[in-house]
Amino acid sequence: MLVTFEGIDGSGKSTLKNKFEDEYGSSEKTVFTSEPYDKVETNTIIRNFLSEADSDPIQLLYLYMSNHISHVESFIRPQLKKDNIIFCDRYYDSMLVYQSTELDSILDKNSEPLLNEDTDLLHFFDELQNIGGFQVEPDVTLYIDISSETAIERIKDSREDIDRFETKNQLQELSTKYDQLCDEKERIVRVDGEQDIEEVYAEC
Ligand code: ADP
Repeated sequence: MLVTFEGIDGSGKSTLKNKFEDEYGSSEKTVFTSEPYDKVETNTIIRNFLSEADSDPIQLLYLYMSNHISHVESFIRPQLKKDNIIFCDRYYDSMLVYQSTELDSILDKNSEPLLNEDTDLLHFFDELQNIGGFQVEPDVTLYIDISSETAIERIKDSREDIDRFETKNQLQELSTKYDQLCDEKERIVRVDGEQDIEEVYAEC
């Protein structure tokens, strides 16, 4: 079984994953992972890209896709074959939401051969990611829903480095895309992330 955590930065995904790990980590049948997958080189390249303000968003899109495929092939599928329960902090929904948000603001869709002004990049990337049968759909996705205001407060309190997506406007746009995905995909369950962390955990 594959359980994924999604939500904007600061929503509490890592905290929740750690709490699940504290409670269930000793079981051999339960494994924990995250994206970007850190056992492959693309992870380092992605981290460097995120710290540079002027890095190319198209390259970043393909790096995330490549990283995700490596993760699926070398970790997710083998673990599912063993019938293990996987908890994953971010998965390909993050790529759909983040990269479509970033490219929405800069791509001139009409000048692209495969796109037009009505193309929803979220759906387009979803289809692209499915080519070749690489996709493994989560069984359930816990979408930790918080406001961009709360996210900014938490990020400011907990991090020294703020990355390119961590401005209030960007976080608001990301939230809107997550809301869209949540409405469209039955596997995504919305969890109120504004509650006390113990309540969020209990709801999850
Ligand atoms: P994410 O992994 O989604 O970016 P984190 O789990 O790193 O978010 O949480 C960001 C910060 O917010 C951390 O300092 C964490 O302790 C705090 N935090 C997480 N969930 C809650 C919550 N429900 N209430 C208050 N603070 C929280």
